[in-house]
Amino acid sequence: MTQVFTNWAGVESCTPSEYLRPHTTEEVQAAVTAAGKAGRAVRAVGAGHSFTSTAMTDGTLLSLENMNRVLDVDTSSGLTRVEAGITLHDLNHRLAEHGLALENLGDVDVQSIAGATQTGTHGTGAGLRNLSASIESLEIVSGDGSVVEVSAESDPNDWRAARVGLGALGIVTAATLRLAPSFVLHGVDRPSTMAEVLDGMDRLAAGNDHFEFYLFPHSDRVQTRVNNRTERPAKPRTRVAEWLNDIVLLNRAFGLTQGVAKRFPSRIPAVNRFVARAWGTSERFDVSYRIFASPRLVRFVEMEYAIPRPHAREAITAVHALASSGRFDVSFPIEVRFVAPDDALLSPAWGRETCYIAVHIYRGMEWEPYFRAVEEIMDSFDGRPHWGKRHFQTAATLAPRYEGFERFLAVRDRFDPGRRFANPYLEAVLGP
Ligand SMILES: Cc1cc2nc3c(=O)[nH]c(=O)nc-3n(C[C@H](O)[C@H](O)[C@H](O)COP(=O)(O)OP(=O)(O)OC[C@H]3O[C@@H](n4cnc5c(N)ncnc54)[C@H](O)[C@@H]3O)c2cc1C
Repeated sequence: MTQVFTNWAGVESCTPSEYLRPHTTEEVQAAVTAAGKAGRAVRAVGAGHSFTSTAMTDGTLLSLENMNRVLDVDTSSGLTRVEAGITLHDLNHRLAEHGLALENLGDVDVQSIAGATQTGTHGTGAGLRNLSASIESLEIVSGDGSVVEVSAESDPNDWRAARVGLGALGIVTAATLRLAPSFVLHGVDRPSTMAEVLDGMDRLAAGNDHFEFYLFPHSDRVQTRVNNRTERPAKPRTRVAEWLNDIVLLNRAFGLTQGVAKRFPSRIPAVNRFVARAWGTSERFDVSYRIFASPRLVRFVEMEYAIPRPHAREAITAVHALASSGRFDVSFPIEVRFVAPDDALLSPAWGRETCYIAVHIYRGMEWEPYFRAVEEIMDSFDGRPHWGKRHFQTAATLAPRYEGFERFLAVRDRFDPGRRFANPYLEAVLGP
């Protein structure tokens, strides 16, 4: 039976010739070997939360949702071995039982650990790298079906390639992660103004464990979010308070405003000013993963760029002016985050203090002209796109932005000389 696979945003889909859900590394090996004999490509998919076609194939699609176990936990070193299909949500809960936690997270937790790390998924924190930085070693089924364990000890270059590997080196079947002891965060959301935030941005990024902010097109208002580690005990919200805030306010009410924006685009400036004013001050004390992630029920399409921190002010100002220019229908806020320099070869934060700027368009509205215009701004700041979010770059435009690009391609040639894991997305961004 043919099965269509569609991503979360609903903007990419594929009809794989087979869609398998292996339970073991041996079953993954068998699938890769069989696909090789039949001349089919193979891709793995996590939660389908990439906005690009990075996971798509008309060959064999593997979901590792049945490979979702925690295999081993060493609480003294924090080293934990997991199967690659475990979701961040399940991982967080299993780790909490052992007093461990990921030191940072993005704003949702539904991704698989392999899917999230292969595209360089990140949270915010000027002193913290993206999620893949916690990987000590990876088990990968490479193009000929053999199993390789990649770590800094086995080969530092392969390890730097494999941590953010775009699924180009093989199917990741397990990972050893180095984790932090569980911690509680003090989270404060509060409104501010553009001038205040842009003037204080470097201080706020340096002075808080996690700092991010949202700018509203057509408005001077900015919503800031700071999360800092605290010794105070967690005080989780009641279920009702959680539902009211996360579902009713952040999703249902926000979704209603987006519906109005889509139906009456001329009202978008007023809608944005209304949403900006409605987002007030709040304070929480809770375990890290409950503060970092929340449900996202309103669907959208997203582009996100990593630029050098020194250009942050100029780039943010330019994107805000573009989104407010009236040339495009932009009803979503612009999100700004900060990440430490990274050493994974294809990490968008490779080798530089990074500011991430993300733009969104409500599902069903036209996104391409706006994203192309934003990309032009990002190009002028040597921006590197998030691999899981929309962009229009090619291997030719990306290679000069990554010092390790050729090194990555050389590792790909060794792991997958026959291009078993190729798809049109990888051909575009890495070449044949
Ligand atoms: C609502 C929403 C919120 C988001 N928030 C953030 C955020 O805060 N920060 C951020 O950086 N990103 C964010 N993202 C982007 C998201 O984290 C990435 O696109 C991530 O890669 C999605 O993970 P996934 O498990 O869905 O993987 P998929 O999208 O299914 O796959 C991603 C890539 O990984 C490959 N892959 C998957 N599993 C394996 C495997 N076992 N072996 C080898 N390759 C594999 C796929 O082939 C594909 O190339 C968000 C996306 C959405 C939709």
